[in-house]
Amino acid sequence: MADKEFNVPKPKEIKAYLDQYVIGQEEAKKTLSVAVYNHYKRIIHNVISDEDDGVELEKSNILMLGPTGTGKTLLARTIAKMLYVPFTIVDATVFTEAGYVGEDVESILSRLLQETDYDPKTAELGIVFIDEIDKVARKSDNPSITRDVSGEGVQQAMLKLLEGTVVNVPPYGGRKHPEQQFIQVDTRNILFICGGAFEGIERHIAQRLNTHVIGFDTSDKTKKLDKDNLIRYVEAEDIRKYGLIPEIVGRLPVITTLDPLDRKALKRILLEPKNAIIKQYSKLFELDGIKLEIDPDAIDLIVETAEKNRMGARGLRAICEKIMTDAMFRAPSSRRKTFRLTKEYAQQRLSAA
Ligand code: ADP
Repeated sequence: MADKEFNVPKPKEIKAYLDQYVIGQEEAKKTLSVAVYNHYKRIIHNVISDEDDGVELEKSNILMLGPTGTGKTLLARTIAKMLYVPFTIVDATVFTEAGYVGEDVESILSRLLQETDYDPKTAELGIVFIDEIDKVARKSDNPSITRDVSGEGVQQAMLKLLEGTVVNVPPYGGRKHPEQQFIQVDTRNILFICGGAFEGIERHIAQRLNTHVIGFDTSDKTKKLDKDNLIRYVEAEDIRKYGLIPEIVGRLPVITTLDPLDRKALKRILLEPKNAIIKQYSKLFELDGIKLEIDPDAIDLIVETAEKNRMGARGLRAICEKIMTDAMFRAPSSRRKTFRLTKEYAQQRLSAA
């Protein structure tokens, strides 16, 4: 990729691609598109720039805040797919559980390496999604975290990765380098996208907004505050108060938030994206020569059930599986050429044990 021919898609192109797979989340899509564009532009500039103009562009890792199941992982994964760069997901809580952090740092990169058939140069252009970063927040600052671990130690280890460091990665099962003990991976150009729900961060946001508005006339601004979605006003300071160490916050300069998914969005997610769940079921039935028909009120029932579960879009698939499994078991052996999903049938499947 590091040659002059590599064309980084423009932010508008990245956003248009994301629109095919991710419903809503306009702000996050826009912010990510710009950040990713700048990231790869920076790599090309730093790697191939002939003239030394003294401008070294710094890496901008990304932090996404938003409730579970609203598309954080999906956004990161979809961008990597678009750019054909290696991608891996790691849960920040594994750092805490293993106790000894060094090993985990290597294992993240080892997974990225596997994606590239053990080519460190390609792995170094990859994207790593670190999920649940809020769970390693310092306990003292965040009484809601009950895990008995030193969040700070974990964060220090993570910091090294985010800043850029050379890690010796054991090439587990590596075919290309059987003679080599370790593969060195430089994380300087790896894009880290961190995600977390940051439950309760609204407290810090509200506090900051209140203290800032008292005493001078900002009545215009306060009037427009979206009180039900305070998280959208989040700033680095709030994340620090939540319990991430300042150095980590400093390494995540691009912050964006995802909105909770309402009923309308959940319905669109079920039906519209390129690989929407319902499209996938239709395809599965079609491969058996069966036409799947779904009544609109059955769709509404699925959406309402997902909304009640409060798992964002994450619940949609599980609900659909529960409804469809029996039909998928029977349909291929039946002579019927259509399967019609009614609300009554869906309801019955959902209440079946
Ligand atoms: P998060 O990382 O925010 O917890 P995910 O991105 O893992 O959530 O979402 C879980 C699943 O829900 C995804 O695989 C996708 O199918 C669906 N989903 C979530 N949000 C959206 C969205 N905004 N548009 C389309 N599908 C979504």
